[in-house]
Amino acid sequence: MDESSRVILTVACTGAWPQKSDTPYVPLTPQEEADEIVRCADAGASIAHIHVRDDAFHASMDFDKFAETVRLVRARCNIVLNLTTSGGLGLSDEVRMRPFQELRPEMASFDAGTMNWAHTTVFENSPRFLEKLANSMSECNVKPEFEIFDAGMIYNVLHYMKKGLITGRPHFQFVLGAPGGMTADVKNMMFLLDTCKDNLGTNFTWSALGIGRGHLPIIYAALAMGGHVRVGMEDNIFYRKGQLAKSNVEFVERVKRTVAEIDRTVATPDETRKILGLKNVPAAVV
Ligand code: ZN
Repeated sequence: MDESSRVILTVACTGAWPQKSDTPYVPLTPQEEADEIVRCADAGASIAHIHVRDDAFHASMDFDKFAETVRLVRARCNIVLNLTTSGGLGLSDEVRMRPFQELRPEMASFDAGTMNWAHTTVFENSPRFLEKLANSMSECNVKPEFEIFDAGMIYNVLHYMKKGLITGRPHFQFVLGAPGGMTADVKNMMFLLDTCKDNLGTNFTWSALGIGRGHLPIIYAALAMGGHVRVGMEDNIFYRKGQLAKSNVEFVERVKRTVAEIDRTVATPDETRKILGLKNVPAAVV
């Protein structure tokens, strides 16, 4: 496999914020989310990034909901699983880490710094928490996806690499357009990419996403620059202006068509495992 010809396509079907009142098509229960992930996997998605909701459908790190969602997905497809560690604000370190520690997905998100969130609150990822998170992910063989909302977060990752808390080739997800972080402008994405290249050469992998109306420019620019991409209702609920996506599959299909036009291919889950060097491969798909 020629790695540069492959595009890792992550789908984030649910996220923490959309409610049925925002879009009736967002999957919220474990069963709805698992069904949607399987449809996206059938359509060719490489990775599922998973959030769960509580019984009132609010953002949550409820362990049982994660366990049920993971069980339902794993029983039906071999898509790579990436669990969030940020399914709610103000939660204890233990609650944030338990899902990946016990369910052993292949990946989990690592939000590499603290920021103001949506002009209302603080999204806290303290140095103490990040050190704990790096150690625990390494012990559990869970690959961190370094979510980068602002340039300083790259330097936090570099700091932990230097200290030896993070080893191997890092994988970055540039999250652009969250209020409080960098805006979803292509020039910001280029700056983040250059910062990684200046410090790591070619020894990293990267993906990008734009939130809301920024999602298409960022996806197209990332594909043009040889990057990987993320789509899904966590980031954007509209297929185009004024038209809600009826399923996350629509976003997957659009990226697949675009990728084919530029002579690249969406990576299968197994190709994704090779490219990212994932370790917790589920027994059923070895
Ligand atoms: Zn997320």
